[in-house]
Amino acid sequence: MEFYIATTLVFLAVDIMACLALNLQFGVSGILNFGFILFQAVGAYTVGVLTLGPDTGNGGFQHYVAGIHLPFVVALLIAGLIGALLAVPVGWIGVRRLRNDLQAVVLLVISIIGTTVAVNQEGLVNGSVGLSLIPHPFSDFIHLSTVNYDLFYAALALAFCGATYFFFYRMQRAPLWRTLRAIRDNEVAAEALGRDVAQLRMIAMVVGGAVAAISGGVLVGYIGIWAPSTWLYPETIVYLGAIIIGGAGTNRGAALGALLLPVIFIQGTQFLPEIGRPGLIDALDWVATGLLIIAFVWLWPRGILPEKPKRFPRLSTPGGLPIDELAGPTYGGSPDRPRVDVLMPGNGGRPVATPASDEWINRERVAQALLSVHDLHCEFGGVRAVDGVSCDVRAGWITGLIGPNGAGKSTLIKAICGELKPLSGTVVFDGRNITNWAPHRVARLGVIRTFQISSEFSRLSVLENLLVGAVEIGGESLVGSLFGRRAWGSAEAAAVERARQLLAEFRMAEMESAIGAELSGGQRRLVEIMRALMSEPRFLVMDEPLAGVHKTMIGTIIGHLQRLRDAGLTILMVEHELATVDELCDSVVVMAQGAVIATGTMAEVRREQRVLDAYLIG
Ligand code: ADP
Ligand code: MG
Repeated sequence: MEFYIATTLVFLAVDIMACLALNLQFGVSGILNFGFILFQAVGAYTVGVLTLGPDTGNGGFQHYVAGIHLPFVVALLIAGLIGALLAVPVGWIGVRRLRNDLQAVVLLVISIIGTTVAVNQEGLVNGSVGLSLIPHPFSDFIHLSTVNYDLFYAALALAFCGATYFFFYRMQRAPLWRTLRAIRDNEVAAEALGRDVAQLRMIAMVVGGAVAAISGGVLVGYIGIWAPSTWLYPETIVYLGAIIIGGAGTNRGAALGALLLPVIFIQGTQFLPEIGRPGLIDALDWVATGLLIIAFVWLWPRGILPEKPKRFPRLSTPGGLPIDELAGPTYGGSPDRPRVDVLMPGNGGRPVATPASDEWINRERVAQALLSVHDLHCEFGGVRAVDGVSCDVRAGWITGLIGPNGAGKSTLIKAICGELKPLSGTVVFDGRNITNWAPHRVARLGVIRTFQISSEFSRLSVLENLLVGAVEIGGESLVGSLFGRRAWGSAEAAAVERARQLLAEFRMAEMESAIGAELSGGQRRLVEIMRALMSEPRFLVMDEPLAGVHKTMIGTIIGHLQRLRDAGLTILMVEHELATVDELCDSVVVMAQGAVIATGTMAEVRREQRVLDAYLIG
């Protein structure tokens, strides 16, 4: 009976540790780490060979490296270190440059390769036989009866588990956790807000790898044997299933899942009396586990304890924000903007056939352009989406980017912001050549974009969405998040305050706790605009920000943009409604078929036959 209890508790502790680690990778960061079990196995193996004596002992019946009889805790720390180190190449190969679905495949393959290599060689891990007679930790100087030792070890394992839980609890409270969730929900948007996605994912891989290895070490200290065949990839699926059932994304959910699936459902059945032929219960277990996971994914995909957005205490009543504080440091506004006062042809005006006067932009481009694009080419598998575009965006102006569908406007924006590598050409921002820069680096210069397709973080609340927009507020590093509120509390409180002021301005104050997925199309647009403003950008690049926004709100947004512009913010925006462009934009760049066909004020480009033709054809 005591043995039963002790064994169950040790497995509970180990499984909770493992689920917390995998939850950080899968539930929080969205990395489908099908190679997870490899890290646990490596940790267990490391503790095994480091605590064993030389392999010449015991008659030399097993072969392994090391064998230096290290104290258990030292071996455990080394195991954690090796788990962390192993996560670097695995993360690099499996996560860094791959789409999420391909990550899963690569990580699964890595896990299988690891097992196969281990099984088929001797010397390192003693082949498929593995290790046995791994000493019980502390048994050199703690002399207990077997039963009492088991209970002692269970308490020890639970202590490790508690420490691990505390570690993850601190992480969950810190801004890093929110950033990782944002990456999970929308990697491209997180990158466009200045987050180094590859590096942040690597944090999840390394921390998860270290904790997984430690959990394996704790287990092997109890069971005393290690064989590669007991750490196969299906074990990862049990852990993944546990997290899905408990509730992915939170420590509570992961811990509950660990209790329910691996411990009660799988370990528990081992104590059932044997029925049918040997191994039948195990086989049925697998079937039942699989069915349970499928049932949850279908019926209860967010798990028993679903992730809830973090709530923030209210420090003051919401009020308006002086709008000039929303713009970051810029070159200052341009008082000599051309006035736009002529109606569009479609609105009754007649095109006047005067020669193009795009001379002004050439004259002033060197002195006044915040952004200069020169001879840019972008291709999608032979389709020239952007074909030799040169244009300038003047500091302190709102520049409209217009043109028929498929003209290459979105592609140009992607190339400017680093999401797309151009074939050739240069992008110069504020005197710096930013061609081929990664999106997060461009964003950190203050170039913030919004997307044509709404890109809210769907499982983050509106307020959390906005907080991701805030430039890094500390606590987004591992160390910072473990330091606790002292490291990031005041910066986060300030960001919350600012977010609430923006929400009040955009009349969404009551929505602050709604999650992204619950919002209407128009609200998503607003969230995206507010999120962009959170970072105090210098240059705002917006791809059809008004599409789908309610008419009454469009006026508000236009007013905002104008005030931001007057405060010195430079804006480049794609907009289809020419009346809006008329009202808002100081100059326009007209594109058609991948090329710029006109630049100037709305009044000027309107007179150009090419523009009229493009719009009639488009
Ligand atoms: P716009 O934003 O002006 O409507 P886009 O920049 O989205 O135009 O597209 C320009 C051209 O590039 C179109 O012909 C479009 O079909 C093509 N294109 C855009 N994105 C892709 C893509 N991911 N793969 C292939 N072709 C694309
Ligand atoms: Mg587009």
